[in-house]
Amino acid sequence: MIVGIDLGTTNSLIAVWDNGAARLIPNSLGEMLTPSCVSVDEDGAILVGQAARERLQTHPQASAANFKRLMGSDKTLYLGKRGFRPEELSALVLRSLKEDAEAALGHPVTEAVITVPAYFSDAQRKATRTAGELAGLKVERLLNEPTAAALAYGIHLRDGESKFLVFDLGGGTFDVSVLDLFDSVMEVRASAGDNYLGGEDFVTALVEHFFAAASVPATLRADPHFMQRLAAQAELAKRALSEGPRATIRVANGDAQYALELDEAGFEKLCALLLARLRAPVERALRDARLPIAELDNIVLAGGATRMPLVRKMAARMFGRFPACDIDPDQVVALGAAVQAGLKMKDAALDEVVMTDVAPYSLGVATTMHIDADHFSHGHFDPIIERNTVIPASRVKRYFPLQDTQRVIELLVYQGEARMASDNIKLGALTIPLATGNAEGVDVRFTYDVNGLLQVEATLVHTRDVHTLVIEGNPGLLSAPEIAQRFQALSELKIHPRDHMENRTLLARGERLYQQLRGDERERLGREIARFEQALGTQERRVIVPAVDVFRQVLDYFDHQSFLLPEA
Ligand code: AMP
Repeated sequence: MIVGIDLGTTNSLIAVWDNGAARLIPNSLGEMLTPSCVSVDEDGAILVGQAARERLQTHPQASAANFKRLMGSDKTLYLGKRGFRPEELSALVLRSLKEDAEAALGHPVTEAVITVPAYFSDAQRKATRTAGELAGLKVERLLNEPTAAALAYGIHLRDGESKFLVFDLGGGTFDVSVLDLFDSVMEVRASAGDNYLGGEDFVTALVEHFFAAASVPATLRADPHFMQRLAAQAELAKRALSEGPRATIRVANGDAQYALELDEAGFEKLCALLLARLRAPVERALRDARLPIAELDNIVLAGGATRMPLVRKMAARMFGRFPACDIDPDQVVALGAAVQAGLKMKDAALDEVVMTDVAPYSLGVATTMHIDADHFSHGHFDPIIERNTVIPASRVKRYFPLQDTQRVIELLVYQGEARMASDNIKLGALTIPLATGNAEGVDVRFTYDVNGLLQVEATLVHTRDVHTLVIEGNPGLLSAPEIAQRFQALSELKIHPRDHMENRTLLARGERLYQQLRGDERERLGREIARFEQALGTQERRVIVPAVDVFRQVLDYFDHQSFLLPEA
């Protein structure tokens, strides 16, 4: 059985293809969304998901989030004393999802389709593959997120040609992709995005406005607990504005109460700049795909932040029609990954679809430009595979040495869009020795496969000698022996038992709230936490089960109380 996994920046999900349909699998808390957060607790056990997210606030030094942004880099994040690479943290999230699926399905899960943003580079894709391996999963395929969203909408089942745009606004990133389905071939024609635009920016806008409009003293910006409470209330207000016309943000600080009521129009005004930023990536993707808006058959929404009516309105205004949003935008990518898993397993219910994607960046080499007889300009970037070329792709270009006396050609491989090679990302170098005496040409072939992995092959025209690229110790990636060693090390980590996760998550939430509260309320919550711990200590189901209910109600009360206070 192959599972489909959406390994997200904020949240991750796992789904299976079952009885002819894609189905999500809940985690041990019964939730479909597992926060992509990892934390190490006091006795060294690893916590993944909601408990880790709560601990981001109470134990920031022992917790991590947003590591998807670092995939493909060699950054080390420290949780307590132990350092983790981004792919190891992703592996812990994947492992937790794998265990949830195994518990639900009753058998081992060893193969997965994992989604990645369409713009992920070669190194980021390889790191994602490694994360899968470290989690004990064979990665059957890396699937572009927009392609997954399209599969969830069953666009691959349509007859004839269909051109559509996937508009994906997540917690921290905005991705736009233009896809084309023709004769059962799904092609990503172009992708563009803004890596620093997402749902969280709308919360920041609310927080900023709150300080000004509710006359909050600026000194409170330095109080992390006040800021956390405010951010949490702003998040709730943002969501409330997706459901109804009004929301109120109320935050207390000791005896001082600050409040702000906001309606949809007010919120829209606050977010005007953010909404305007949605336009440029859409335009770039359409331009790269050479497609006028009018030729799009469909617009598909993905990412939790597209639940916001103002984002939908903006999209409708841009496209002159309403986008498709029948599937929960949080779930659409994971469901599509499961559809792809179903295709892989050649389920009879699905027709075979050939899928193609595009290269997210231009890939090429550094060259020297001949300006006139005596003048050269070095270090120009010469793309061999251009951005948004349909992949798998294989392109060849012939290069010549500058002088007859030259004995080697130094091939420097780069990725990016800048004119000068040094402004792009260097992927590797290949030194090709030349036979003596003649200025012989070299055919440089770049082959980019469906998983976004690049191979460089240089063939000397005269001798047919072939050299393949050995990437110079890329600091962003692990070698095979390193992967094996880290797999072993991760397997030895103590993981918090799955069946205790619910209680552990409630306790983490209690601790987070305890830090946020003050005075009598803090004292009361302290007593409730102690009571809950005591109930857990009995290890008796008949004591624990009702205690869980009571404790959850207490936490809900404190988390939402500012909404329950009577109107001033
Ligand atoms: P994702 O990265 O796709 O999980 O998206 C998460 C983002 O979606 C976060 O910024 C959430 O605040 C946002 N989000 C989720 N549900 C809603 C909702 N009902 N209304 C507004 N934003 C939401």
